[in-house]
Amino acid sequence: MGDGWILGIESTAHTFSFGAVTSDGTPIPSASSIIRPIEGGIHPREAADHHSEISGELLRRLLSEQDLMMDDLEGVAFSQGPGLGPCLRVGASVARAISTSRKVPLLGVNHCVAHIEIGRAICGCDDPVLLYVSGGNTQVIARLDGRYRVLGETLDIGIGNMLDKFARHHGFPFPGGPEIERSALAHLEIVPNPSIENLELPYAVQGMDLAFSGILNAADTLVQKGASFESVCWSLQEHAFAACIEVAERALAHTGKSELLLGGGVACNERIRNMTSVMCEERGALGHWPPKMYCVDNGTMIALLGRLQMISSGPTDLIDSAVDQMLRTDMTAIAWS
Ligand code: AMP
Ligand code: MG
Repeated sequence: MGDGWILGIESTAHTFSFGAVTSDGTPIPSASSIIRPIEGGIHPREAADHHSEISGELLRRLLSEQDLMMDDLEGVAFSQGPGLGPCLRVGASVARAISTSRKVPLLGVNHCVAHIEIGRAICGCDDPVLLYVSGGNTQVIARLDGRYRVLGETLDIGIGNMLDKFARHHGFPFPGGPEIERSALAHLEIVPNPSIENLELPYAVQGMDLAFSGILNAADTLVQKGASFESVCWSLQEHAFAACIEVAERALAHTGKSELLLGGGVACNERIRNMTSVMCEERGALGHWPPKMYCVDNGTMIALLGRLQMISSGPTDLIDSAVDQMLRTDMTAIAWS
């Protein structure tokens, strides 16, 4: 390629990913690897081991697949938080090593903000409300006075985490979300017009916030009492997604904004995309979602935000490059337009 580029390293949880953008900000697809535990959930230490073992191979894959030269590297960005400490530290260490050895700027970025910026860049939306639905996070976010503010969020587990746990309890390994989507569709083939009242589940909305552990327990109980896994998957999606869309709609109403952007791995789901379209159409707003490879955790979004930070506020000093497991969306000052 012969042109400058910025590397982005994503390592907040299950995914280790190297992605890039060109110096003018054009996204370059990532090389990624996801740890898939044979049983049980994700153990932070095991995920971190996976990340460090696969690191060299993934970087080589990105360089060869995308025809990138280390000599053209202009900066290296990494997820500084939020996430699992051991996983974050692997990405940060790799980024520091590359920055020091190649003498290029180091850029610590906020993972949640990266989901917003990749969506804005790729979907061409300007000032959206973001419905961020991922494994560990569920937040409704909008920009106000130089920060992305959290207008509502889960009070317990992330929606993806809830879907993954439900799937795991019934024999499907991580990531469970896609299997739940398949099973919900299988239910529709048998029962083309199911009624939401058929299977009662708690509703996850609490004011502007959400909560998913109650709905998880109730869904497990329904299967234990004899409801088919497929019918519960359908009902679970309807209830959980409707709750998210309701809060997102209220956020649009409160802020007066007219664009809704989906982000996070659960935004790969066709049903939540469809519900978003319907709601946006009804209120004259525009719904957007990036291609699936940019909904899930990916290094490209980290590179993209790193580039914005490099231009607007400069690099991260080594002394300020510690990871922050609890980094909040609204802790990052937004100095770009
Ligand atoms: P992330 O944490 O943003 O990388 O997203 C991973 C999460 O997205 C996991 O909880 C997956 O189960 C979930 N996910 C991925 N694809 C789908 C899908 N088609 N439907 C529902 N959830 C999904
Ligand atoms: Mg994420």
